[in-house]
Amino acid sequence: MNKITPDIKIIEVQPFGGFDKSLSYGVPKGLLTKIQIGCLVRISLGNRKTMGIVLSLNPKDKPPPNKLKFISSLVQEQPVLNEELIRLARWMCSYYASSIDHVLEGMIPSAVKDGMGGKTMRYLRIKKDVSTSIALEGLQNSPQQKKLFLHLKKCDKDVALHETLKALGVGISSATALVKKNFAIETSKIIERDAYVDEFSDSDHLVKHEFSLTQEQQKATQEIVLALQKKSFQPHLLQGVTGSGKTEVYFKAMEEVLSRGGGVLFLVPEVALAPQTVSRLRSRFNKQNENVVVWHSHLSAGERLDAWSALTLGRSRIVVGARSAVFAPVQNLQLIIIDEEHEPAYKQEENPRYHGRDVGVYRAMINQAMCLLGSATPSLETLYNVEIKKYSRSLLSKRVDGRELPLVHLIDMRKEAQREKNIPILSQPLVEALRQRYYDREQSILFLNRRGFNTTMLCTDCGHVEQCKDCSISMTFHRTDGYLRCHICGYRKPAPRFCPSCRSFEIVKKGHGTQRIEDITESLLPRKAVIRRIDADMMSKKNLFRQTLDEFRKGQIDILVGTQMIAKGLDFPNVTLVGVIDADLPLRMEDFRASERAFQLLTQVSGRAGRGDRAGEVYIQTYAPHAPSIQFARTGDVAGFVEEEMEMRKEFQYPPFRHLVRHVFRGRSEEKTSFYAEQWAKVLENKPIANVDVKGPAPAPLEKVKGYYRYHLFYLTTHVTKFLIEFRDRRKNFPLDNEIHDIIDVDAFQIS
Ligand code: ADP
Ligand code: ZN
Ligand code: ZN
Repeated sequence: MNKITPDIKIIEVQPFGGFDKSLSYGVPKGLLTKIQIGCLVRISLGNRKTMGIVLSLNPKDKPPPNKLKFISSLVQEQPVLNEELIRLARWMCSYYASSIDHVLEGMIPSAVKDGMGGKTMRYLRIKKDVSTSIALEGLQNSPQQKKLFLHLKKCDKDVALHETLKALGVGISSATALVKKNFAIETSKIIERDAYVDEFSDSDHLVKHEFSLTQEQQKATQEIVLALQKKSFQPHLLQGVTGSGKTEVYFKAMEEVLSRGGGVLFLVPEVALAPQTVSRLRSRFNKQNENVVVWHSHLSAGERLDAWSALTLGRSRIVVGARSAVFAPVQNLQLIIIDEEHEPAYKQEENPRYHGRDVGVYRAMINQAMCLLGSATPSLETLYNVEIKKYSRSLLSKRVDGRELPLVHLIDMRKEAQREKNIPILSQPLVEALRQRYYDREQSILFLNRRGFNTTMLCTDCGHVEQCKDCSISMTFHRTDGYLRCHICGYRKPAPRFCPSCRSFEIVKKGHGTQRIEDITESLLPRKAVIRRIDADMMSKKNLFRQTLDEFRKGQIDILVGTQMIAKGLDFPNVTLVGVIDADLPLRMEDFRASERAFQLLTQVSGRAGRGDRAGEVYIQTYAPHAPSIQFARTGDVAGFVEEEMEMRKEFQYPPFRHLVRHVFRGRSEEKTSFYAEQWAKVLENKPIANVDVKGPAPAPLEKVKGYYRYHLFYLTTHVTKFLIEFRDRRKNFPLDNEIHDIIDVDAFQIS
């Protein structure tokens, strides 16, 4: 009964649009030779029509012929994914517990899925075996068709359809008729849009060109090139202090790979924050006749499609982009570079919840390629991999040109508080240093990782704090419009003039954000000093952000105030002072990575100072001057910090010693949410999973977000995939109420 006719070809197709299982389909005769793995096909699913990806030509599951459905058509002949990316997708599903349709869909630009097919050019050509005399006889009564036919005959090759019609003064109907009568054939080709001009094209002037490598750069380059020659999977850490010239080493590795015909993927935490890296890539490699594709979130659907086709068809061999570019279809991929590998921006905080760095490493493994991770302050995960010899490492311990690392001063704010009646927001030494730089015509950066003007509005009579109605955090006062804003969900309302709870007028604004720092600085410096701010509130005005960076680079701004956006990657030679306003801010968060994060931020932001010919100075204001993250950042002692922090992680067997999986339950009802989290914990108690530590359930630090209550559990395990198999097994027999959802986050970063 279940016998399958041998001549029916059955393939495995993954449908799009919320269907997380692949299905078997038959291939109609006409498509037999065209179907390949990774092709985009149209299918029917139940009674709806949708698209899907061909995952395999040899599925395990073969339905009986009477149940077999056939694919309807092929969207385009060129496969949209190659086998390598499909393998990557399968791994992501098993490692991140994400559904395959989400992962695959994220890999394919929407324009491809929409069947936009790029800007296509139509061509017309005479058919080979057509006899001219018969044709002319048939076309006697249609002079236009005859004219077109004779022209095609003369050319005897593909001619551009529209241009030809225009030149001959012939209508499109004549072309259609010739095709219909079988005298001509029409073809179409996808062509690239004019190479798009973007903000990175004219930045050649930002780039310094010829110099010889430092000794350390040479040594690192040699080590990397040697590793590249093995042509096998090589994860390699390039650990170099800020300003040690890591980019130049990346470039050497790229040149080596390109000279062997390989392709390169270059990841940065965020393209908008790495304009210099992108410009340097462009100017260096465009000169070598490479076409560097920039892959970022602001690309229009059409531009993304062009970028995608350029890579798929091998017209470009280099792509630079943020997290999602890790899926870019680079051909013959031999090198993946992940700059600032420690940056949390590589972690995607929505489905599929993957870490761009780790996906990059895995993709390199699939391709037997090198994965080059770079950072001045590598993540503990990566350093652990170096320690256990999974990754090799090269070190750059000095800045180029023998420039000094900046001198770091700690300012103990507890003492400042004793000295003056009101705790100053900017300490006296920092203010004096800022003034001095201004008079010396040097530039300064002030760093505070909190935007807005004040942080909270507090009633000093009853203690009431203005909170968001949907989230469990206090709202931030923004002076620009006089509104209170929630930094989680964006909810805003006018700042109240009296306490909504006790009606007292003693409602005061507390704390400070970047807007307030900008204000205070303005009031403390000479009127002519130019002070500007960069933070997420400004990022929405994309041009303003770029323009501000540009003005700063040109020296038109004296002091730049900003959040972590200015902490990384930027290279401004004239900056000689960096002030860090609330250095302990990250330490006050309930997160086992708080100390690591604080250390990285301080070291990175300090690294912005003294990159030119003059030495830099850093002032760090802190209430916790003895915290290890602050002490080690002061001396720039990465190894010292890592040693101490590793000890702590080891004691608790936290990452990197084990993987941390976060499991969140969320729902509108607090009672139900906690109930299901508790019930689930009992399931795990009754039928424990081997080699897993379960922590929780507990309310998340941010208990309520956008109107949803959140309870979470943590699982600590050395084997994620094994754990997930067991987990899924139990979870599928644990039905949830319709209003409750749960989320699994493997190697979670955000645990608030
Ligand atoms: P990192 O990424 O390690 O912080 P960069 O790669 O941005 O450092 O380099 C810092 C600056 O030093 C850049 O302006 C770069 O052009 C310059 N630079 C790099 N290598 C050399 C070298 N060997 N000699 C002189 N300048 C260099
Ligand atoms: Zn909110
Ligand atoms: Zn009150």
